[in-house]
Amino acid sequence: MRDRDLYAKILGLPAPWRVEDVELDREAREVRVRASSRGKMPCPECGRLSPRHDHRERRWRHLDTCQFQTILVANVPRVHCEEHGVHMAKVPWAEPRSPFTAMFEALVIDWLLAANTSTVSDLLGLTWDEVDGVQQRAVRRGLERRQPEFHARIGVDETSAKKGHNYMTIVSSIDGGHVLYVAEGKDGAALDGFYESLNRERLDAIRVVAMDMSNAYISSTRRKLSDADAKIAFDKFHVAQLLGQGVDKVRKHEHRELLETGFSILTKTKYLWLMNPDNMKDETWKDVFSFLKDEALKTSRAWAIKEHAMSLWHYVSPTWARKGWKRWIGWAVRSRLEPMKKAAHTIRNHLGGIINAIIHKVTNAGAESLNARIQKIKAMACGFRNSERFRNAIYFHLGALDLYPATHTDS
Ligand SMILES: [Zn+2]
Repeated sequence: MRDRDLYAKILGLPAPWRVEDVELDREAREVRVRASSRGKMPCPECGRLSPRHDHRERRWRHLDTCQFQTILVANVPRVHCEEHGVHMAKVPWAEPRSPFTAMFEALVIDWLLAANTSTVSDLLGLTWDEVDGVQQRAVRRGLERRQPEFHARIGVDETSAKKGHNYMTIVSSIDGGHVLYVAEGKDGAALDGFYESLNRERLDAIRVVAMDMSNAYISSTRRKLSDADAKIAFDKFHVAQLLGQGVDKVRKHEHRELLETGFSILTKTKYLWLMNPDNMKDETWKDVFSFLKDEALKTSRAWAIKEHAMSLWHYVSPTWARKGWKRWIGWAVRSRLEPMKKAAHTIRNHLGGIINAIIHKVTNAGAESLNARIQKIKAMACGFRNSERFRNAIYFHLGALDLYPATHTDS
């Protein structure tokens, strides 16, 4: 088989395109494949076969041939349509304006799903901007292709691009486990934007909105959904977060007190108290922790209060759930541990939403795993300089979008 025919097969060029020449440039470590076409071409606007006006030479990077970069070169005609005038014809192997063939772009997308932009650019010999361009185009394409759907159970969360900067609001599908919407800020307007993107039917289809106890999200949901108070749910993950912050405050304060009297028993224990004991893997720390939690420490008491709350999610009847939580609130309020008292007051004021989460069986699995995956995206990118880039990375990795460019073989 001549190399021309070989490349024609590999590239799978449809008529009227054909491979005219293949050139190997050893010095540049490059294979250049020249494609050409004849005859009339469809107008990109209406598809009507139209005569050629002139042409432009363009180059696309394609999948490497062994260790050689492979470049597809073609004179792309501009066609003259009677109705639409002069336009650059579409080529079947690449999307308009992309410097890569669709197959190469798909390869970059695959790599980007596994590694960060700098790694992918080193790996494929591209600039950072070129790789970033592929990611931005993929997200744009994916969002454009997305069909409106009904979602019965959604979760709302806030996250920051860097520690304490650029807050983002993220709406996800609890049952699908993917991100539906990302907006800048963590105020009510950020969540309003999501609700405003839905029509009445889709708004009414929402049965559960899981969230933390932030007033901004509560009031936005009350503004936009009918019967919102029956739908707002404060799930276990967010309640655990709130109580975890309480435990941490107690620990910090007690640690300081103990250090003043020469005891350093709480040194480096911050994360032990915040961990789910079932997830503790390290045996030494497990021993340390089982010793600590039985000590007569304020921190151990605060921790026990939190852990007890974590066991109050099994109820089936709302009446019994309410009783169980009220008993717990009484205990926490009498604990004489200020941060836990404060958290218990917050919970008392939001008890309806906790009961909703229990009755609707909103588990913490979704919110917890989404949160972990967002932390991973941040770690992979070493933080994000601007929220636009962070938003797109979230859509890219968690949006369940159809990211790949279309090729002529797709239709
Ligand atoms: Zn036309």
